[in-house]
Amino acid sequence: MEESKLYQKLKIASKEFRSKVLSEVHDGERIIRRAGERKVIRVNKRNLETVTRAICSSRTNSLRDNFLTHIDILRKYASYCSSPKSFRTAWDTRSKQLNPYDADTICNEGGQLVPLVSGSRLFECGQQGVVLGPKKRFILGIRHSEGNYKDKLDDLGRFTYQPPCDTSGMLRYRWCQYLSKTLDLPYILLVIIWFEHKISSKITHAFMIAPAKIIDYKKDLENLNKSFHRPLKLQIIMRSEALSALHLLTALNTTDLAIETRSIMDERKAREWAYDQIHASAKGRQIKKWAKSTGKKCPGGCNREFRDMDLSTISFGHVISQDWAYAFNYLIEKIHHPDNLYLTCKSCNSSLSSNFPDRQLTDRIAESGTIGDWLRANEHHIRNIR
Ligand SMILES: [Zn+2]
Repeated sequence: MEESKLYQKLKIASKEFRSKVLSEVHDGERIIRRAGERKVIRVNKRNLETVTRAICSSRTNSLRDNFLTHIDILRKYASYCSSPKSFRTAWDTRSKQLNPYDADTICNEGGQLVPLVSGSRLFECGQQGVVLGPKKRFILGIRHSEGNYKDKLDDLGRFTYQPPCDTSGMLRYRWCQYLSKTLDLPYILLVIIWFEHKISSKITHAFMIAPAKIIDYKKDLENLNKSFHRPLKLQIIMRSEALSALHLLTALNTTDLAIETRSIMDERKAREWAYDQIHASAKGRQIKKWAKSTGKKCPGGCNREFRDMDLSTISFGHVISQDWAYAFNYLIEKIHHPDNLYLTCKSCNSSLSSNFPDRQLTDRIAESGTIGDWLRANEHHIRNIR
């Protein structure tokens, strides 16, 4: 049986990461500072080997199943997530108790307060800082408790979170970063905060959770010996952003080769190269020149190469047509996204009018690439071509 992309990528990730850890990380002391304290942790190679094997299993089937369960748990918790804005308000109260005024503001801003649920790992106090997923292979969430960490939340919702004071905890930070890199999708986890909020003898605390993604990990992965004890950099995100990353991760588990999943394009980049920005601009001409110089062909069926065409006879087509998007409102937002655009000759484009490309055409577009695909792989080249 054909293995899914998720399987293949997890297999590569665990193999590469295991050998990277064992070749790069040396025995020795690591120092972690938290809450003014300085903790010394001794890392030794034998222990490291055991821990690495347990976390990044070479049994890919089991690793994949654990990962899918982990995603499923995250998706379920998404229903309880608060908006980034309300989460910041809650974070900035810097108080152990929640007063009625703050509670009001938080709820008005899209915050959801969840009462203490005894026996739950997320909505209970006094648990450990890092909450783990299935078989302790993935980080499910982190708990933020007032005053414990260097924990300023910046304007974009970013903050750093210190690692647990043990080898496996530190290793897991780098492993989750490595997964971000190999899967080419953000690693999503939950951030949990809580307050005293006494309603009855049983309802004594209120919890808030929000999704976050791991950011700025490239440098940490350069040399694991240097980065082994470094904190995790995280950014609080919207529930919708988290869900779309989780959906893409699930889609990676399909074995249908006709469905090609794409990594999420940075929103700023997507806007910069949207249809209205490129269809009649210098920027769009850069794309056309690049397609000419790299021997791309019109996927429309004429089979002509762009290099034989005049720039003015090349245009940008929509995979899902504009007319359709206006007929089905929910499509409008994404209609001009680079992933919905491809380069075509004017005559093929107008003969298609507002119809969908048929299967043959979509296959040819997928093969030669959407504008989004080209940007992901060749943005620098496209920007700089003369
Ligand atoms: Zn054509």
